[in-house]
Amino acid sequence: MAKIGINLSTGSLQKDEMIVGIDLGTTNSLVAIIHPDTHQPVAIREHDSSSLVPSVIYFDEANHLVVGEEAKKHLESHPERTIFSSKRLMGKSYSDIHDPSLFSYKIIDTNADSLVKVQMGNQFFSPIELSSFILKELKNRAEHILKTPVQKAVITVPAYFNDTQRQATRDAGKLAGLDVLRIINEPTAASLAYGFGLNSEKKSKPQVIAVYDLGGGTFDISILKIEDGIFDVLSTNGNTYLGGDDIDNAIVEYWLSELSISKEMLAINKPLSQSFRLKAEAAKKHLSAHDVYTDTLDAYQLTLDGIAFEKLITPLVQQTIDCCKYALKDASLSITDIDTIVMVGGSTRVPLVKKMVSDFFEKPVNDSVNPDEVVAIGAAIQADILAGNNKSMLLLDITPLSLGIETAGGLMDVLIPRNSKIPSKASRQYTTQVDGQSGMRISVYQGERDLVKDNRKLAEFNLTNIPGMPAGLPKVEVGFLINADGILTVSATELRSGVAQKIEVKPQYGLTDSQVETMLLDSMKHAQEDIIIRALTEARTEGEQLLQSTENFLQKNASLLIQEEIMNTASAMQALQLAITMEDKNLIQKKIEELNEVSRPYAERIMDEAIAKAMKGKQI
Ligand code: AMP
Repeated sequence: MAKIGINLSTGSLQKDEMIVGIDLGTTNSLVAIIHPDTHQPVAIREHDSSSLVPSVIYFDEANHLVVGEEAKKHLESHPERTIFSSKRLMGKSYSDIHDPSLFSYKIIDTNADSLVKVQMGNQFFSPIELSSFILKELKNRAEHILKTPVQKAVITVPAYFNDTQRQATRDAGKLAGLDVLRIINEPTAASLAYGFGLNSEKKSKPQVIAVYDLGGGTFDISILKIEDGIFDVLSTNGNTYLGGDDIDNAIVEYWLSELSISKEMLAINKPLSQSFRLKAEAAKKHLSAHDVYTDTLDAYQLTLDGIAFEKLITPLVQQTIDCCKYALKDASLSITDIDTIVMVGGSTRVPLVKKMVSDFFEKPVNDSVNPDEVVAIGAAIQADILAGNNKSMLLLDITPLSLGIETAGGLMDVLIPRNSKIPSKASRQYTTQVDGQSGMRISVYQGERDLVKDNRKLAEFNLTNIPGMPAGLPKVEVGFLINADGILTVSATELRSGVAQKIEVKPQYGLTDSQVETMLLDSMKHAQEDIIIRALTEARTEGEQLLQSTENFLQKNASLLIQEEIMNTASAMQALQLAITMEDKNLIQKKIEELNEVSRPYAERIMDEAIAKAMKGKQI
C-alpha cells in the first residue's frame, strides 16, 4: 500500500467535500488542498516523492498511455510517441503555432478554422483530450493519496489565456470527470498563496503586485492590482519560449566549447546529447546552493563555477527584465508603484534571477513559498473560498475585446466594452422593425470596429415565437453575462410575452495575443472611416424605418387625407428613398426632416380626431 506524505484523517475528508486546486502546467502539474486538520494549504505527494507530475504522456505501440515521470523516460527514446507541452496547443489552430517542428510528435492541421489535433498512429487526439489525460492522472493520484473521491476542482491558467483556451481547460476537466468550479489566473493564485487579497473584509489599501514566473519553458510577468479582495490583471507580458531549458542549453553549449566537441557530433549522438542536458540541469540546480559543480560524463570532465554560470545566463535573465519593463509600461506604472514581487516557477531558485529581479524592482522579492507549488497552493485557497470557508472574495479579470450584437445595417452595438472587469453583466432593449415579426436573430460579435463584418462572430441564435405585434412594440431584452471564468452567456427575452432563449458562447477557436493586437490596431487605423460609416448606416436605418411607418400610416388612414397631402407625402418619400441610396448622411437627415414636416400636420390632425372620438364614446 502506498504511504502518504501528509497525515490526513479519512473520516473528516469523507464528511467534508473535497475541492482540490490544480496547477495544470506546461512542464509539470500538481494538486494542492487545504489540510483538513491544520487548515494549511499543502501540495499532495506520495511519501518522499515529488509533488510535481511531469505534464508528459507516453503512448505505447498499442496506444495505451502513461502520464508523468514514467512517460518522461520515453522523451528521448520514443519522441514521436511522447507528448510534452500540450498546454501550448490548447485552443490553437495550426496557423497559431509558431513552429510545429519544435514538437517531436505529429501535429495535424485539421482545416483552416479549427483546432489542431495530435496524431498517434491511426488515432487523433485534441489538446483538450491530452490535457484531460493529465488531469485524470492527477485526479487518480489525489484520490489514491487522500483516500476519498475527488470530483471538484479549481484549475489555473495563464493570465493571457483567452476565453477559448479557458473553455478548453474547463472541458478537459469535465472529460477527466472533474466538476471545474472555477478557472483562475496563475498569477492571481500565486498572490493568494502569499495571502494577498485575503483580508478583504478589513478595508485595506490597494496593493500592486508583480508576479514573476520563470518555469522550464515559459516566462510570464503579470502586474496585478488587489483592492478590497478584487484582483485586477493590469498587464501581462512574457516569452512563451524562455525558461530553465534555455539555461540548460546554454550550459551544454559552454561545455561543448570547453571540451572542443562539435554541435554536429552531439546532434547525431542522441543518448550523449540527452546525458549532457541532464548533467547541465543538475549543474544548474547544484549552483543554486553551491559555488562550483564538477562531475564526469564518460571520459569528459565537467566543471562549472558560479561566476562562469552567471555570465552565461545574464543575457537570458536580462530578456525577462525587458519583459518586466514592457509590462510596467502597459500598466502605465513605474517601479515605485510596485508594492510586492512574487516569485513563481522552478527557475526562480537561481540566485542570479532573484538578484536581477530584486535589483530591477528595487525591492527584495517574495520567495518563501515553494515556487513549484505556489500556484497550486493558491488554487487550493481559492477552492477553500468556494467551499464557503472564506467569503467576500471575488477574483476579477478584464475582457480583452468588446462584446456586442449586430443591429440594423450591420452595426456593432457594444454591450460589454473592452477592458471591462469580469464577472460582468449588461443588458439592453431592442425592438422589431416589421409588423407581426415573430423572430429575431441575435448575432454575437467580438471586436472594436463599428461594422460587425470587420469583427469576429462568436455565436448566433434565433429568438422565435414572438407573438404578433406592430413593429416597435415588442421589447426584446438582450443580456450578456460573463462569468468569473470569462465564459459568456447571451440571453434574449421578449418582455411582454416572456418568450426567452439563451446560449453559452463557445467560439470555435480563440484569438492569439497578436490577433487581439491586430484587431485593436485595425480599430484605431479605421476609427475615422468607421465613424462615418456608422453615422451613414444609422441615418439609412432611421430613413427606412420612417418610410415603413409612413407607408403603414397611409395604408390605414388614406381616406382621412386630402389629395395634396397624399401627393406631397409621396414625393417626400421618393426623395428620401433616393437619398438613402447615396453616401451622404446629411442629405438623408434633411430628407427625413422634410418628410416629417409634410406628415406632421395631418398625423396630428388624425390623432386629435381619434382622441376626440374616443372621448365622445366615453361620454356616451
Ligand atoms: P516549472 O516549470 O515551474 O516546474 O520549473 C521547472 C524548471 O525549474 C526546470 O527548468 C528546472 O530545471 C528548474 N529548477 C528546478 N529546481 C531548480 C533549482 N534548484 N535551481 C535552478 N533551477 C531549478
